Amino acid sequence: MNLMRTLFLFCYIFGTAFEAANARPSDECTIPVKRGFSKTKVDNFKFDSSLWDNKKFTDTNYKLHTLPEVKPQSTVLNDLSIIVLKNSGWTQEIVNKRIQSLRSIYAQCGIEFKRIHVVFTNSPFKEVILRNHRLCPRDDPKGDNKLASVTPYMPGPRIFLFQKFIIGPEGYAMFRNASKDNYMENTAWVAYEKFSNLAEPSDKNYEIMAHELGHLLLQASHVTKNKKLPNLMSKKRKHLNNNLNIEQCYKMKSNIVKIFNQSTQAL
Ligand SMILES: [Zn+2]
Repeated sequence: MNLMRTLFLFCYIFGTAFEAANARPSDECTIPVKRGFSKTKVDNFKFDSSLWDNKKFTDTNYKLHTLPEVKPQSTVLNDLSIIVLKNSGWTQEIVNKRIQSLRSIYAQCGIEFKRIHVVFTNSPFKEVILRNHRLCPRDDPKGDNKLASVTPYMPGPRIFLFQKFIIGPEGYAMFRNASKDNYMENTAWVAYEKFSNLAEPSDKNYEIMAHELGHLLLQASHVTKNKKLPNLMSKKRKHLNNNLNIEQCYKMKSNIVKIFNQSTQAL
């Protein structure tokens, strides 16, 4: 009888453990699919302007900037997308120049960009002056969150370029753990016009696009410790320049591999 009971107990425990092990999601499932979102293979991405037409974006142009050659030691971010609102001050020439400075800033970490997708378009809401999502309801057509919610999927971190915020900063970024809305996750927002009362950064060549992308690649906020300043990620404008330190480079490279170059992303 005792033997039967032991055997039963063994089978019960073993069975439960076996079930638990089987219930564990496969690797395919470890990247959560969010409600209302499906997944796509990043490498299969093809720009489709009809998706933009369907969402009432107009006069949409797409340009892919590829990397001719990767240095052997580099960590490569597969995809970065830049969505530019037309008539916001940002021109093709300015954006190209800023992409060059972005590349050279990240080269100090040994980070290169394999594909940079640039979309020039008119917002369906015709707005180039936006309202920060913290100050506006979700359906406000001037809201950055409203624009993000209707923007078709683009791979990698996404940088939105617009004219300015009605009230708010020159730019900001929503990294993975800081965003409430799926479509705002890993987006950065950079205005063409900055407010005249802002202090000058320590380096006049400081690149805000690189700063905001830095938040996304680091998945972190600002550097405030004196011995690490000046820095690209300084909280205070007077301590801003284009430098990244060794720890920041390491963190970014690790996040590129672990987060951004995963084979699937929310669509
Ligand atoms: Zn910042």
